[in-house]
This record gives sequence, C-alpha cells and structure tokens, in this order.
Amino acid sequence: MKYDLHSHTTCSDGRLSPQALLDRAVDNGVNVLAITDHDTVKGIPIGREHIEQSQLDIELISGVEISTSWANHEIHIVGLKVDEHCEQLNQRLSTQIERRERRAKLIGERLERAGIEDAYHHAKRIAGDAAISRSHYAKHLIELGKAKDFAGVFKKYLRRGKTGYVPSEWIDIKTAIGWIHDAGGIAVLAHPSRYDLSAKWLKRLLNDFAKAGGDGMEMALCQQSTQERTLLGQYAKDYNLLVSVGSDFHFPTPWAELGKNLYISDNYLPVWHNWQL
Ligand code: AMP
Ligand code: MN
Ligand code: MN
Ligand code: MN
Repeated sequence: MKYDLHSHTTCSDGRLSPQALLDRAVDNGVNVLAITDHDTVKGIPIGREHIEQSQLDIELISGVEISTSWANHEIHIVGLKVDEHCEQLNQRLSTQIERRERRAKLIGERLERAGIEDAYHHAKRIAGDAAISRSHYAKHLIELGKAKDFAGVFKKYLRRGKTGYVPSEWIDIKTAIGWIHDAGGIAVLAHPSRYDLSAKWLKRLLNDFAKAGGDGMEMALCQQSTQERTLLGQYAKDYNLLVSVGSDFHFPTPWAELGKNLYISDNYLPVWHNWQL
C-alpha cells in the first residue's frame, strides 16, 4: 500500500485542482491520499465527488494543515480523518482564513513600500478563490524577476525579518490539536525537520506537542537523508507518537512528487495502523 498523507490543491497554495491532484496520485500508484490544504477542508468534498464520478481506485483521507505559533516559530499541524462537514471545525478554520486575509494585506503594504506595486492584488489574482498564502506572493515576485525560485524569494523577501514578512498571530498548538480532535481527527506534527530548530528545540517542541495531546509526527518526506528519517523515527518512539508520511506536494518539481520515496519500515507504528480502509 502506498500512502501519501500530506498534499495541497488550489483550495490553498497548491497548483493542481483536487481533481487533477487525485488523477496524478492514481497515476503515481498512490492508494491512500490525504488532501491537507492550509486551514481549509474545502477540497475534500470536491475530491470525493471526483472519485465517485470517475470511479477512481484511491482512498481519500480528509485532512487539513493548521498554522500555529509556538515559541516564536510557525509550526504546522496536520489533522487527518477530520469530519469535513463538521460545522464547528469549518467555523474555527474560517477565523484562520480571516487572519490570513489580514496578514496578506499587511504583506502587500510592506512590499508596496519596497517598491513592488499592487502586490496584494497580484497575490489575490494568483490565489483565486483560495486564501492568500506567502506562496502566492512568492509566485508573483518570481514572475516579476525579483528572484529565480521559491527558495530565493523566501530568503530575500518572505522569511522572518525580511521586507515582506509579517508576523502572524496563529492559534497555539494545543488549540489546533483540540480543533482536530473535536472534529474526530488525529493530530500530526508536520515536517519536523523544516523549522530550522536545533535538536534541543525540536525535542522541546515534540515534548510540548505530545503533552498537548498530539498523536503523531511526520517521519518520511520525499527529499530527506536516511539518517534524518531514522532520527525522526527514533523521536517518534521517544515521545510515543505515531508516524506519518507525506510529500507535502504543491506542484510537480524534481524533488517532491506524490507518493515518491515515502517508504518506512515495519519498525514504526504508523498513523494508519487501526484504519479501516
Ligand atoms: P504561509 O502559510 O502563508 O505562511 O505560507 C507558507 C507556505 O509557503 C508553505 O506552506 C510553503 O508552501 C511555502 N514556503 C514557505 N517557506 C518556503 C521556502 N523556503 N521555500 C519554498 N516554499 C516555502
Ligand atoms: Mn504551502
Ligand atoms: Mn507546512
Ligand atoms: Mn503542507
């Protein structure tokens, strides 16, 4: 069975529609896919309808990736198997979307002052119906030739401390875990190696996350050394967390692809150990 439990669509900052994402997952031999858009579950019903209509042989897990603040870092928590129809969850997520909108305007103002005209409207155009993410600003800045790729544009404009960075007041990790649990889901710490934390701080985060009721952590990402994967697996055991795997796919690149290189051995207890698929 091939699992990929972290991916994005045009409902947040992914470039493929839920339909196109599912078709691509099937082509790549993924059996179980979670759509985990930033702060929204809007892609899930669209995906379910497509599976039904096109008779796709794939299991869709309803997911969400919630932005949180922890010790001055932006930490992402993935919810898996949340009830996408849960009114309370949708209501709660809409407060995150409002935060995104307020932040997006402030980012636009900051970029404007740095001489980038109308950045907000361009980001809005690129985002379409989705809430604006920094990735939408990034795409616009690349189109303007301000940087040649995402890594460059984040480094130059969008990372903390840079011209276009606006600190966000996201909810804390305990609140996010509560939202996920209240909607029937399990809470998974996303991409633990991407927060630029030292080992000491990462352990502190894992400890806080586990104490706050977190259920699992991502262990396997597409582009990762064997050593890193093994270390994360060890941390999962140390903090009594289940392990998850996910490409965090946003659009096709040579290094991230749906279902690619996400293998984990039987030594670990995966988030899906008790799922009835
Ligand atoms: P936001 O949720 O609006 O703060 O935007 C964060 C999103 O920007 C992440 O989910 C990634 O898709 C993308 N992102 C953040 N940092 C980088 C980076 N250094 N390089 C490429 N994409 C990034
Ligand atoms: Mn993203
Ligand atoms: Mn993330
Ligand atoms: Mn993600």
